[in-house]
Amino acid sequence: MLWRFNRAEGVSVAVNIDGVQTAVYPLAEDREVVITTGDNDEHRNVLVIEDGKAYIKEADCPDEICVQTRAAAYVGETIVCLPHKLVIEITAAGADPDLDMTV
Ligand SMILES: [Zn+2]
Repeated sequence: MLWRFNRAEGVSVAVNIDGVQTAVYPLAEDREVVITTGDNDEHRNVLVIEDGKAYIKEADCPDEICVQTRAAAYVGETIVCLPHKLVIEITAAGADPDLDMTV
């Protein structure tokens, strides 16, 4: 399986809501983040970073495709929650300290 060697392991997990990057977390640190989206923060996704992988553990979207998406660990892999306009992306860049980590 040659393609495996062409994939770069990710460094950070970027959170994008409606096209805007709102947070970046290091992939090396285990954490659980509740991401709220929507005009009144009425939507919820629980992002888990664990063992160098990121996945959505829980969400209140109607399709739950994001929850069923397998864990992402390589640069360019994404987890998308269309109903919540949320995109989780694995990137090669380090975390930007200027970004608001509290979302
Ligand atoms: Zn979803």
